[in-house]
Amino acid sequence: MNITEYQNNIPAVRDVIDLRETLWINGQLRPFGTIQDSLRIKEDDIIAAAERLKRFAPFIKKSFPETQDEGGLIESPLKKLEKLQKEWNEKTGGDPQGHLYLKMDSHLAIAGSVKARGGIYEILKHTEELAIANHLLEETDNYEKLADFRDFFSQYTIQAGSTGNLGLSIGIISAGIGYHVIIHMSAEAKQWKKDLLRSKGVMVREYEGDYEAAVAAGRKLSDSDSMSYFVDDEHSEDLFLGYAVAAGRLKKQLKEQQITVDKEHPLFVYLPCGVGGAPGGITFGLKHEFGDFVHCFFAEPVQCPCMLLGMATGEGDKVCVQDFGLTGITHADGLAVGRPSPLAGNLMKNMVSGIFTVEDHKLYEYMRMLKNAENIIIEPSACAAFEGYRSINESPEMVRYLKEHNLEKAAERANHIIWATGGKLVPEKIVDMYLQTELK
Ligand SMILES: *Cc1c(COP(=O)(O)O)cnc(C)c1O
Repeated sequence: MNITEYQNNIPAVRDVIDLRETLWINGQLRPFGTIQDSLRIKEDDIIAAAERLKRFAPFIKKSFPETQDEGGLIESPLKKLEKLQKEWNEKTGGDPQGHLYLKMDSHLAIAGSVKARGGIYEILKHTEELAIANHLLEETDNYEKLADFRDFFSQYTIQAGSTGNLGLSIGIISAGIGYHVIIHMSAEAKQWKKDLLRSKGVMVREYEGDYEAAVAAGRKLSDSDSMSYFVDDEHSEDLFLGYAVAAGRLKKQLKEQQITVDKEHPLFVYLPCGVGGAPGGITFGLKHEFGDFVHCFFAEPVQCPCMLLGMATGEGDKVCVQDFGLTGITHADGLAVGRPSPLAGNLMKNMVSGIFTVEDHKLYEYMRMLKNAENIIIEPSACAAFEGYRSINESPEMVRYLKEHNLEKAAERANHIIWATGGKLVPEKIVDMYLQTELK
């Protein structure tokens, strides 16, 4: 691997090294129909995951009453951002491009972030396997009864490495089931997240190193204990599938709101990316639902674009952001991951449309904009997705993408979804601090 060669040959890599915001367009995007059969995770796997979540709904409803309204499913609203879009267009003088929506995973029950999809799904699957293997449960049972087995589950340990939100989701659901839980937190994890977990009886171990170091320590400790299960964010197919279930549910919401997705009405989705599991899993699901009519873009911090570098160079998880002279340090704590997931990277190879980078100061600006226009609070990491909608009007690479895909006309009728990945659990004091933060 030769960094200088990549720097000279790939414009987006040059921008990344020079700390300039950029948009990398994926030259290996393929028509979904031509790659679907070769994928190692199948549509049936997504359907099985959705079914499993349905089986667990009575248990979730009982143990987490906040999910009552959704019948024990953990799902978020799709909100039209009418005021924000109007103000934005007035301010930038940009053309109104279709319609803008916010997918509010920021407000998902239990974990207050997108991790309520993948993290919780993986713990539920593990729980089902343990309970069935020990003859406490059959698939046809009402899963509500799992609430009576706390003593049984307390013999087992769950562990995970996290920059914060994965730990929150794994910790809260696992403690809710009755497991002993240890979360290994990397340096950027916020104090309030550690405090919240400890208040639920979760053991939190803190590390001075980055995400990779916390994961490695957690994995090692878990591997030495036969009663312990490790949630492996970098390689887990279960996490990935938990995220993928979002797509079928979104399809239903779009239909309810009479939003069409077809050739004439393309759907653009902007997803903040850390290790790649959440945006990758959601994209994977969306491609199965909407094929080539959906265009998925990932958002990463200027100092930490691990997926962009892995995909643009083709090196995947063999490279980390530090190899390119970046610090990996960012205000977007949820995206502070220096090396991409090989699982997500491989599956996204022919699926993701592009990846853009965002400067940290904009996260707070987008956060204020959303608060002022719509009175919605999401956390800084989640705000990275707004940059994608901006690029539709402004980036030359995006203009070329639209042209190459014959989308110039249809772009006027497009729908854009900003995937808000976290925020509900952020304490008010910290929200106030964020709202006052101005960088640069
Ligand atoms: C974890 C997280 C992401 C990205 O998910 P990955 O699976 O790490 O790519 C995005 N936003 C927030 C707020 C997160 O916590």
